[in-house]
Amino acid sequence: MARKRNFSAGPATLPEAVLNRAAAEMTNFKDSGMSVMELSHRSALYESIHDEVKSRLSRLLSLPADREVLLLQGGASLQFAMVPMNLLEPEDRASYLITGSWAKKAYKEAQFFGHPEILASTEAEGFRRIPSFSVEDVPKAARYLYLCTNNTIYGTRIAPETIPEVGVPLVADMSSNILSEPYDMRHFDLVFAGAQKNLGPAGLTVVILKKGLLRKASGALPAILDYRTHMEKGSLYNTPPTYAIYICNLVLAWIEEMGGLDAVAERNRDKVQMLYDCIDESDLFFNDRAREDRSRTNVVFTTGDADIDRAFVDGAAERGLINLKGHRSVGGMRASLYNAMEPEGVAELVTYMKEFEVRNGR
Ligand SMILES: *Cc1c(COP(=O)(O)O)cnc(C)c1O
Repeated sequence: MARKRNFSAGPATLPEAVLNRAAAEMTNFKDSGMSVMELSHRSALYESIHDEVKSRLSRLLSLPADREVLLLQGGASLQFAMVPMNLLEPEDRASYLITGSWAKKAYKEAQFFGHPEILASTEAEGFRRIPSFSVEDVPKAARYLYLCTNNTIYGTRIAPETIPEVGVPLVADMSSNILSEPYDMRHFDLVFAGAQKNLGPAGLTVVILKKGLLRKASGALPAILDYRTHMEKGSLYNTPPTYAIYICNLVLAWIEEMGGLDAVAERNRDKVQMLYDCIDESDLFFNDRAREDRSRTNVVFTTGDADIDRAFVDGAAERGLINLKGHRSVGGMRASLYNAMEPEGVAELVTYMKEFEVRNGR
């Protein structure tokens, strides 16, 4: 069976080289006579993987020295709750930029712990664009401003050059575009990302936070939900998702071999340009997101006709181009072009789109 071109939004495609390496090491990792899955999380062999992931992330993201990298579980969704739980006292305010359903979910979770306020939202427009707002609209008293840098479902992104400087700590959900292009990480006080989009397998959640951000009294939270526990124990308070962390390490090494984040970003720019060009030149397919806010990792498009969309998705699958169906709340198609999607995969998609248009053109 040939490998599919998997355009899923997550869990997503992984580099084939990474999978082959994992396969080769499956039963005997570095002459241990064991799989990584069987190693003690307290063993030197495992700890070297654990530490490598943290140092590779620091290097690839050019993290300032006062940032801590945590390797946690529970997905990005747990961070929706852990962020306010750790940062808000009941009377504290926080500001939320609502750019899609994930940001909305995060906002709802914050209501359990403090007073989140909506800074701006484009929900009434179906999240077709990133809302504009003025920095003055962020309350000075807000404990943080929360935003999502890439809206996986709606196909929009907050470009690195438009990340606001607001004078309050900045918290970002980067689940679907971390390490796809460089963001200046000095702007962010806390960033989190579920691994299954661009970093590795499901089960691992990366949290990057600035030391000194946490103010809440020690002992005010269950240990497992307190960032300080994981900072103090180097993310080895309890058993971490060791195999997911190992695969993430291989993915990060793969990015390094490709030339690092700038090289990957350039490759991603070319890939996504190829697809948007095809959509924009087409008389059949269109993308109605605000141009300047178009995502580089999740491209949504449609013909505007549900039956034709379905035929497109089915025909694609017959060619091994899979998981192109759009999210149920948007409809149409969605092609996720994370780092591991090869340019050849996008080229095959574009070729198919052109052929499909000739057969179904208007
Ligand atoms: C996928 C996704 C989530 C949810 O991640 P889980 O790990 O399933 O909790 C949250 N935010 C964004 C931006 C996502 O793409």
